[in-house]
Amino acid sequence: MDYAYLAELLFPDVKTTPEDMEKRYPPRNLPEDAKVTRFAPSPTGFVHFGGLFPTRVGERLAHQSGGVFFLRIEDTDMKRKVEGAEENLISILDKYNIRFDEGVGKGGDYGPYRQSERCEIYHTYAKYLVQNGMAYPCFCTEEELCAIRAEQEALGADPGYYGKWAKYRDADISVIEEKIKAGEPYVLRFRSNGNVENKIKFTDLVRGDIEITENDKDHVLLKSDGIPVYHFAHVVDDHLMRTTHVVRGEEWLPSLPFHLQLFRALGFKMPKFLHISQIMKLENGSKKKLSKRDNGASLADYEAEGYPEISVIEYIMILLNSNYEEWRMQNPDKNYEEFPFSLKKMSSSGCLLDIDKLNDVSKNTVSRMDTDTVYEQYTAWAQKFDNDFYKIFSANAEYSKRILSIGRGTQKPRKDITTWRDVKPYVSLFFDELFEMQATFEEKFDKRDIKKILTEFSNGYDENDAMDVWFGKMKDIAAQNGFAAETKAYKQNPDDYKGSIGDVSMFVRIAVTGKTNSPDLYEVMHIIGKERTLSRINSVISSLK
Ligand code: GLU
Repeated sequence: MDYAYLAELLFPDVKTTPEDMEKRYPPRNLPEDAKVTRFAPSPTGFVHFGGLFPTRVGERLAHQSGGVFFLRIEDTDMKRKVEGAEENLISILDKYNIRFDEGVGKGGDYGPYRQSERCEIYHTYAKYLVQNGMAYPCFCTEEELCAIRAEQEALGADPGYYGKWAKYRDADISVIEEKIKAGEPYVLRFRSNGNVENKIKFTDLVRGDIEITENDKDHVLLKSDGIPVYHFAHVVDDHLMRTTHVVRGEEWLPSLPFHLQLFRALGFKMPKFLHISQIMKLENGSKKKLSKRDNGASLADYEAEGYPEISVIEYIMILLNSNYEEWRMQNPDKNYEEFPFSLKKMSSSGCLLDIDKLNDVSKNTVSRMDTDTVYEQYTAWAQKFDNDFYKIFSANAEYSKRILSIGRGTQKPRKDITTWRDVKPYVSLFFDELFEMQATFEEKFDKRDIKKILTEFSNGYDENDAMDVWFGKMKDIAAQNGFAAETKAYKQNPDDYKGSIGDVSMFVRIAVTGKTNSPDLYEVMHIIGKERTLSRINSVISSLK
């Protein structure tokens, strides 16, 4: 077969050669161990939570090594293309601090970064493969392929287009020429020389040494419209864009033998591969893939639910590196980017989406934030998701920040906020518009006692009292009303008292905050001010019959 002739017949317009491409996209000028990684999504409009795993790995590997992290849009499957998807993807990833150095939206010397704009490049390599007898046109119709499949099924043969089943693999040039001239549609197929009896040893940087079976199928490289399939396009792109580490989902592992064959056939240096396990969910006791329709599958949901982006980042880091949590405990104030991310600490088994764990991580993460950060992040969120409250909360920033600063920056910070949705119920007591009596006094106490205690507290309240003086007054009131001023004394002889200082302060707490659980009462009173404090207490007094 005259392959050069066939190549001209199929690609008369392709004048570029692989050498031209090598010149156009020379090796990058980077330090030796700098890693070049990429995120290569299809613009479907849906940003899967699970996408954060390979993306973060790629981002860390590149940025930790002084390399390059780029965004390539794999839009060869036009049916899946959604308007605005790229912008949406870039902006949502940006929130999670996944920032690209080059690619779609950024530009760079290795573009275009949209596969749909790279046809000339793919065709250059397709022509090269034909010239070298490694690819050929296949004119099989859908019906013919179905017939082949049916026959294979009947015989119990491996399904697919290969070996003796590959009708056009060794077709005569005259047959091909005639069909081309008649304008018959065809796909371009790879001429595989693999054998399924052969096993290849392969090292995946996450999974370690694995054994894979050689590919013997003559897979499609170019579809009948000349558009490449993912397998072919990614090999060409990752070579020319000088990707050093291909970080992608484990769903690509089965097609890896084909990819390896293509890298070899094209004479490309093999990049390193990392196949990242998919995130799973637990359903009825068994692990399942987190599919698009599941709760928690869409990254956008996390924002709507009010998870601070940094909490999600922290959670992902914990799942990605087994020693991250320990590092975080030792370095509570460091940026996660300072953590020495390591492939060796990655688990090869699929991790489970555990919302309880995420909540726990988030609670701790928010508790470590400073007041200004909480205020800024919360108000940005509330403006979008709870605008009515945003207006109330942001009307007096200083006041709101005082509320958020309670217990913050201490050794044991308060952990009232897991998501931004928790802020409103937590702070509502500070705003008259939202304040409501949510708690009631325990039945076992005499209302007259409560009334008397609240009245005495109200009469003696002085905003200028230091905390110990304030509390001393509360103790005195307790003692004068038959309640133990010390918890210990009460515990020793409970029958001698009506209750303890704890109960007395609970009466005041309920009256002032409307709840049994609130931030430090002394601070609350100072933030809401004397007038509001006393008016709340007095209204409770008058409601007690
Ligand atoms: N476009 C492929 C996907 O969305 C990319 C896989 C890869 O990273 O190579 O799954």
